Amino acid sequence: MSLQHQDILEEMGLSPLWVLRQQPPVARAQSTVAIPEVDDGNAAVTPALSQPVSSPGLPSGVEDMSWDELRGSIGDCRACGLCAQRKQAVPGVGDEQASWLFIGEGPGAEEDARGEPFVGQAGKLLDAMLAAIDLKRGDDVYIANAVKCRPPGNRTPEAAEMATCFPFLKRQIALIQPKLIVLLGRAAVSSVLGEDGALGGLRGKRLAYRDGDRDIPVLVTYHPAYLLRNLPDKAKAWEDLCRARALMQSLREKME
Ligand code: URA
Repeated sequence: MSLQHQDILEEMGLSPLWVLRQQPPVARAQSTVAIPEVDDGNAAVTPALSQPVSSPGLPSGVEDMSWDELRGSIGDCRACGLCAQRKQAVPGVGDEQASWLFIGEGPGAEEDARGEPFVGQAGKLLDAMLAAIDLKRGDDVYIANAVKCRPPGNRTPEAAEMATCFPFLKRQIALIQPKLIVLLGRAAVSSVLGEDGALGGLRGKRLAYRDGDRDIPVLVTYHPAYLLRNLPDKAKAWEDLCRARALMQSLREKME
């Protein structure tokens, strides 16, 4: 493990959990963590619930928009009450042909000010989580949110707000065509899969989002802001990230 990796795991609060104290220095430097497998179940894929494809108040034709049109349309959107207090809409950031798509909840104060998702404290942790599996924001990674405008007081977006905004996210997914979607927290799960149950029951399972005639694999993990408040669960998030990395590896091998 490189020093940088060690730093990243420390940042995630994981480092002490994974170092075997009895190991000699050389073995420790090369130690690896057993990667938990993704539970494929019998059918391997749980189909996503159907989601609305259009929302009243949104411009028509979102489903055919180019990236430029989509960004413009998100920036001008007044389809729900969240537009009233936003400084700006926050469409998403990263590689528009990324293999990895991470989806969070909605912009907070810093994201609203800067126009980029996950740039506050939770964003720093997300960057550390990405780095822990050798990923970097913008490099084969796209980061989006269930809603594009900041909910006042950083409250959780309401179901109606997520439903109204969903066609934008749906179009982003269709344009990116990611190999794997990682949902960060319950709001993202509710928006993308229409599932409102506890996150714990979905972690470790390979789920799917239906895009046209294709099922895109989906994994679920905790939201970084939740992890900042619940430090012991960082270890579970680490397991989820290891699963995600292993699943991506096997998806790539199948595509070869
Ligand atoms: N939390 C989110 O879900 N998204 C952001 O962009 C920032 C914080």
